[in-house]
Amino acid sequence: MFSKVLIANRGEIALRVLRACKELGIQTVAVHSTADQNAMHVRLADESVCIGPPPSRDSYLNIHQIVAACEITGADAVHPGYGFLSENAKFAEILEAHGLTFIGPTSEHIRIMGDKITAKKTAEALGIPVVPGSEGEVQDDAEAARIAEEIGYPVLIKATAGGGGRGMKVARTPADLSEALSTARSEAGSAFGNDSVYLEKYLGKPRHIEIQVLGDGQGNAIHLGERDCSLQRRHQKVWEEANSPALNEEQRARIGQICAEAMSKLKYRGAGTIEFLYENGEFYFIEMNTRLQVEHPVTEAITGIDLVHEQIRVASGGGLSVRQEDVRFHGHAIECRINAEDPRTFVPSPGTVTHYHTPGGLGVRVDSAVYQGYAIPPYYDSLIGKLIVHGRTRVECMMRLRRALDEFVVDGIKTTIPLFRELLNNPDIANGDYDIHWLEKFLKEPE
Ligand code: ADP
Repeated sequence: MFSKVLIANRGEIALRVLRACKELGIQTVAVHSTADQNAMHVRLADESVCIGPPPSRDSYLNIHQIVAACEITGADAVHPGYGFLSENAKFAEILEAHGLTFIGPTSEHIRIMGDKITAKKTAEALGIPVVPGSEGEVQDDAEAARIAEEIGYPVLIKATAGGGGRGMKVARTPADLSEALSTARSEAGSAFGNDSVYLEKYLGKPRHIEIQVLGDGQGNAIHLGERDCSLQRRHQKVWEEANSPALNEEQRARIGQICAEAMSKLKYRGAGTIEFLYENGEFYFIEMNTRLQVEHPVTEAITGIDLVHEQIRVASGGGLSVRQEDVRFHGHAIECRINAEDPRTFVPSPGTVTHYHTPGGLGVRVDSAVYQGYAIPPYYDSLIGKLIVHGRTRVECMMRLRRALDEFVVDGIKTTIPLFRELLNNPDIANGDYDIHWLEKFLKEPE
């Protein structure tokens, strides 16, 4: 086991990782920018190192400073959290070159899954169902038209270098295709400096369902069921739940097994998430995230398995602590992402938290790095905490969520808490009847 882990992140996820390290008897090193001098992760770590000024590129993304911080403190491994350097293959390589362990997959796997087209080809070769479409980049309009005819309209044109849902265009009929292609190409060119595009069947009302996987890097891999993250705004997840209200046990076992077998063939190491769009009973791979995800606690709630413990165990060569046959799913869990934002316009609202009280009681977990008097800096993303609620049934979970939201007090800044109170009163949410467009439509309706 490692003796000292450096946590290359900030905010709630830095605390999350720090907690796991403490439970495993591992010393912790926090790194921070000058803007985060008073942050909770710095206060709770055994040691801390300032790695630069506020902008992320000068601090949390500064590989040299992070490696130097490992050397100064004698850390033997680095946990990257999510975001920042967590899916940076070069970072993983540099750490290994310095004799440090990257708590995550191999740099090769990060690289494969980081490229959309290679990821899709790899997934398909591993037996994972993918969205029908072109095999990689389309060269010209004639080729695009032929493929669109084959897969059927509507089709989606996506930038190969795309990200965050940018550079996508729908062509509903053959007549739309050529214009959609040229718009997508020019948008991709100016946004990503690369105008190559590919084609996919457009799914009209899908849900976003993702499978959590864990592998030991030696060919043993398991799945921990799914999370339904269909409630999104601008491709940002807002509310996540497990199990998905749309799947039954048999579907869960089937797609889970496909993913676990694929990860076993790949000899995947660590935690990963295979994301799908789900429509009419079919799964379509969209991407794989080779890191811990923001919404991992809903899986922890229903399985009782600590994902960060497993990541650290596997990275240290200790293998997984669970076998597939030991994994059980208990009850239902929902996570609400609490952002320092206006609950309707989503304009960021950094500032000082003048009063702070978190909910508690059975089945309630708050992962947050906020405390009373904390000044939320304006430099980073606006996620300030996550409320995760667990119940024996979805109904019990929603009742518990309602009372937990009522107990939550964050004064001095605006947060997204009122949005969740509204969502709980909505019959579609109560019925679990929503797709990836539902939240955007709801937000357009007058209050
Ligand atoms: P990015 O890397 O830009 O986030 P993704 O491939 O993950 O690209 O797609 C972003 C989002 O676009 C998905 O989460 C989904 O909402 C939507 N999307 C992607 N592919 C399709 C498709 N074939 N049909 C319908 N919607 C899609």
